[in-house]
Amino acid sequence: MSQMLHRDPECLFCKIVAGDIPSNKVYEDELCYAFYDIDPQAPIHFLVIPKTHIGSVAEVIEGPAPYTAESALSSPITTGNAAVVGHIFAVIAQLCKDLGLESYRVVSNIGDQAGQSVKHLHFHVLGGRDMTWPPG
Ligand code: AMP
Ligand code: ZN
Repeated sequence: MSQMLHRDPECLFCKIVAGDIPSNKVYEDELCYAFYDIDPQAPIHFLVIPKTHIGSVAEVIEGPAPYTAESALSSPITTGNAAVVGHIFAVIAQLCKDLGLESYRVVSNIGDQAGQSVKHLHFHVLGGRDMTWPPG
């Protein structure tokens, strides 16, 4: 399955996907990229992002994805992108199994009030310590 990638030239995580900014890679496939957080909040803290630019969970839309460059050109930019989120969760489950993590937290911040500092969809995966609820 190939997918047309949208890239925001100003976006930090698009630059990481492109290799223009270095990162400590955990995993990569055609659709997503995982790398360790530069400012870890737990003994294990990595981020999983779609390779294509999606601003946040708030921009996730059901519908068929533009799987080829040709269909992407003939489709509006709002064509579905939700499938990549399901894929990312399957990747998270597998990576955590590989790391021997049985308990962990997956977090995605949406918007300024929730503390989203990078406006490219990302899921934090945190593990290796006790955690409290509710989060701050
Ligand atoms: P958020 O605040 O939820 O938007 O999460 C953004 C995360 O990206 C923060 O946890 C940052 O520490 C992390 N971050 C920022 N720049 C980099 C980078 N160059 N490499 C890895 N992680 C980064
Ligand atoms: Zn981006």
